[in-house]
Amino acid sequence: MHSSLPTAASLYDRVRRVIPPIEWPAFTDDIDAILTLRRERNAVILAHNYQTPEIFHCVADIVGDSLALARRAMSTEADVVVLAGVHFMAETAKLLNPDKTVLIPDLDAGCSLADSITASDVRLMRQRYPGVPVVTYVNTSAAVKAESDICCTSGNALAVVESLGAPRVIMLPDEYLARNIAAQTKIEIIAWKGHCEVHERFTPADIRELRQAYPNVTVLAHPECPPEVVAEADFAGSTAAMSDYVGRHRPARVVLMTECSMSDNVAVEHPEVEFVRPCNLCPHMKRITLANIRAALERNRHVVTVDAEVAGRARLAVERMLAV
Ligand code: SF4
Repeated sequence: MHSSLPTAASLYDRVRRVIPPIEWPAFTDDIDAILTLRRERNAVILAHNYQTPEIFHCVADIVGDSLALARRAMSTEADVVVLAGVHFMAETAKLLNPDKTVLIPDLDAGCSLADSITASDVRLMRQRYPGVPVVTYVNTSAAVKAESDICCTSGNALAVVESLGAPRVIMLPDEYLARNIAAQTKIEIIAWKGHCEVHERFTPADIRELRQAYPNVTVLAHPECPPEVVAEADFAGSTAAMSDYVGRHRPARVVLMTECSMSDNVAVEHPEVEFVRPCNLCPHMKRITLANIRAALERNRHVVTVDAEVAGRARLAVERMLAV
């Protein structure tokens, strides 16, 4: 027998610190419908750390960064996976869960990093630097992953680069992540010119102004930020590492130099920490809403497919990373 479903009303406690009471009624219908549909369709909802709190805390089964989402979906018995995130994340989920139906609520939820490079660009880089291994960030299409030797995340990029035993490595597509890793290793890194449109906008001057306005603030930056920003921060790490840092160190006051919803989602878990919130929105992440998650489950849309031959090669690059 099924246990009873939570209701939107019972979920409000989770988000009352970040969603004002006046906004809450706009969400309750969709939340109740999604919770019912999720069970009827034997679906799991994966939500990236940059999703808004009513998605992240009220309808998601699994939350985290893109790779954690795809990996954790592998251990579920779900028939359907709804990816509340951007397209490359849905493709990665499909690569690792080929027998499940993977849905993305909005096909236009893209990514400036993933869009900065194509499979033929990677082939050209290989021609230009023969024999140099290609490390590809997970924020890329399956077609780009398929051209790569190995994938990496912002959390494991250094370990992946150093695992290859090569004096030179091509690291795609995020120029800043590549330069931030180059600062930590003797291996020569050849970078591409891709940037995350959210993280590239932070500047060292932003951090200096924050430190003046909010004395003793702890500044955490994502490694997709420019190296000059990372140098001014107290700590740089992936979304998972930033969240861990707040949990372990419990700074009295913190600012996360990353996408806006990340602070809201972490703040829910740490009422004792003051979150200072200058942040940048990712317009792609914000295309996902409760309404289109509901429509995805109701109408089985939009089904994400990856060509079988491409998927096979892309999966290999992801699996090599998981083995490091
Ligand atoms: S935050 Fe940056 S890396 Fe993430 S989806 Fe948006 S544009 Fe892409």
